[in-house]
Amino acid sequence: MLPVQRQTRTQGRKRRSHDAHKPVHVASCPNCGSARLPHTACNQCGYVRPGLSLNLSKED
Ligand SMILES: [Zn+2]
Repeated sequence: MLPVQRQTRTQGRKRRSHDAHKPVHVASCPNCGSARLPHTACNQCGYVRPGLSLNLSKED
């Protein structure tokens, strides 16, 4: 199937104006201060929230 009519540069650019990637949001770990993704365990110390932290010693 062929497009009925070629899109203008403006129409293509308008469509792609929403395609840009947004920067990844990072939060700092309150336990060790390193950067981590929100709602995830810290890669450095395994901290998740008060009262819950993962033991990372086995995987290293
Ligand atoms: Zn941490």
